[in-house]
Amino acid sequence: MSKSTSLPGFPTVKVSPRGAARLKDGHVWVYRSDIVSTDGVPPGSLVVVADHRGQVLGTALYSSSSQIAIRLISREPVVDFPALLRQRIADAIAYRELLIHDTNAYRVIFSEADFLPGLIVDRYNDVLSMQILTQAMDAEIVRESLLTALSDKLHPASVVERVDPRVRQLEELPPRPSGLLQGEQISTIFSMNGVQFHFEALEGQKTGAFLDQRENYAAAAQYAHGEALDVFCYQGGFALHLAARCSHVSGVDSSRPALEVADQNASLNHRDIEWIEASAFDLLKDYAHSGQHYDTIIVDPPAFAKTKRDLDAAMRGYKELNLRALKMLRPGGVLVTCSCSYRVTQTDFLGVLADAARDAHRSLRLTEVRGAAKDHPMLLNIPETAYLKCVIASVSN
Ligand code: SAH
Repeated sequence: MSKSTSLPGFPTVKVSPRGAARLKDGHVWVYRSDIVSTDGVPPGSLVVVADHRGQVLGTALYSSSSQIAIRLISREPVVDFPALLRQRIADAIAYRELLIHDTNAYRVIFSEADFLPGLIVDRYNDVLSMQILTQAMDAEIVRESLLTALSDKLHPASVVERVDPRVRQLEELPPRPSGLLQGEQISTIFSMNGVQFHFEALEGQKTGAFLDQRENYAAAAQYAHGEALDVFCYQGGFALHLAARCSHVSGVDSSRPALEVADQNASLNHRDIEWIEASAFDLLKDYAHSGQHYDTIIVDPPAFAKTKRDLDAAMRGYKELNLRALKMLRPGGVLVTCSCSYRVTQTDFLGVLADAARDAHRSLRLTEVRGAAKDHPMLLNIPETAYLKCVIASVSN
């Protein structure tokens, strides 16, 4: 696989008029159903993409098994792939240097949004955590370029690879364990907005923390007051940020390991936070019935709509959670509510909140409508990159 990507004279993949239109519209994906011919193209190859008439549209990474068969990497011919990778990595790092302050934990490379489809690299202080999501990015030549470029620029103590076995299965890649790629350090402490967090590189969800919420934590903390409830708190991202402003903070999550880290994080920051292990749906129902009230409520559930089929159920889930939260907020209270399902658009999400407000007989004033932090860039022509919504609203009467 690695060899095919390094050879000049890449094979050509022809795409249908619909596939070509998608690329011309600025997207970088072509689905398998829009591929006309891939005769003899090895898995993970760099390929020339052409329309049905043979007009060249660019150079792409090819997957022989994913439904996303083509991920365009350049609209130009690619002569030296490792050099292109080095340049893209350097550009991604330079982009963060301009934008990222108040943290030593951020996403260094975000796949399509950094023109490196299938590659994610997160920095947690001195530890880098990377994920490889496609056949092409799994090639040795890519791994080598990546490690060299990241080490030269960021000088991490260690680099860890986090493997999602399901992704490797879907990409028909041989299984491999998560583990260290360089160095020996697997834990560290990172900080964002002056709050400190424990990081265990080989444990936890995603590559560690929810870095995309970093700026939303700081925004939420600006308005938070009184008694606060952080629902779906994970390792305490929002709760720890609220603790400086609120008289009492409780965090709820169904994952005991997440709450254990949350508690260690509270100690690290000398904060007193109550952690509750419970199903958020059950707890909100009980609390709403027993007349519990709060001044600040955070609702940050996992992605409910992973596929199109889940969309209706997801909308019902968002509605129920937000309805209950709204009923529990005191007048003047603050709701910070999020959705990380890209299939639920910002318009959909605001619609659900409007329905919930109507049913709860509350008026919601929008304070801020936010997205992911700037190190998770959104590409306007790739809607999948605009997945996170974070609405901050004030509740009257
Ligand atoms: N707000 C967090 C991220 C939340 S991720 C942060 O900023 O770091 C979603 C969390 O929801 C995960 O921690 C997961 O354990 C938890 N979760 C999933 N289903 C749940 C349920 N039914 N009840 C409570 N927590 C749940």
